[in-house]
Amino acid sequence: MTDLDTPVLDNHLHIDPDNGRGIEAVQDFARLGGTHLLVVNKPSWHLGVEPEVGEDFRAVFERTIEVVDRASEVVDGTAWPVLGVHPGLVTRLVDDRGFAPEDARDLMQAGIDVAAEYVADGAAVALKSGRPHYDVSEAVWDASNDVMRHTFARGADADCAVQLHTEASEEMTAVAEWAEAAGLPRHRVVKHYAGGRLVGPTPSVMSEKERLTVAAESGEPFLMETDFVDDPDRPGAVLGPKTVPRRVRWMLEEGYDDAVERAHVTTPGRVYGLDTVATLDGD
Ligand SMILES: [Zn+2]
Repeated sequence: MTDLDTPVLDNHLHIDPDNGRGIEAVQDFARLGGTHLLVVNKPSWHLGVEPEVGEDFRAVFERTIEVVDRASEVVDGTAWPVLGVHPGLVTRLVDDRGFAPEDARDLMQAGIDVAAEYVADGAAVALKSGRPHYDVSEAVWDASNDVMRHTFARGADADCAVQLHTEASEEMTAVAEWAEAAGLPRHRVVKHYAGGRLVGPTPSVMSEKERLTVAAESGEPFLMETDFVDDPDRPGAVLGPKTVPRRVRWMLEEGYDDAVERAHVTTPGRVYGLDTVATLDGD
């Protein structure tokens, strides 16, 4: 296995042991020098779960925790679960299942409450929420923002970070202020699928060279991700599992050593309280 002489964290990807490459994708990541993973549960409907109550999300979370345990055995560092409710669920509930937006909101918030139990028990490290990245009605938008704000409150209670799936933006001050109003510091809000620059939350930068160059030169805290979806029906929809270690190697060659330390050691510590150095096997 390649050793890049630094922890290498992919801050947001999915692993699907049933339909996708599963642990094989983790082996690819580890072989190229990847050491740590934050694995986000797949959207509930991808697992065939059509929730009626918050407890119905438990099957989705349990499946994720199982695969993360297996992934942890493969990497030299650790894999941790991030659990939550995909913001796209609101559209499925309202458009396909006839829910009123307020009822969709209540169900999604109940799912977040269950996810927060896992964090409180130490079985997961962060929550996942957000709002649709596509146009929706005002009622659905409001319901989605309510779910996100509820998640910030649960994150504050559980003392954990919140990853967000949102519209593309470089300026999310208002969202950061909602988090702080709920008791969650803005740096513990992570915008997944981010560009290289972001005002408000901490960006989890999609690992393309242009975005990474902007993030590296900003001097600001950032994380790196692929959003690998592990979906055989969508090959190439996102970056593959080897991308973060490959880009770290490239950043080191370009002399961005400080940025590598920021993305893989100091920012994970600051955002999640995770110590990526201490959790390396060290062999
Ligand atoms: Zn994702």
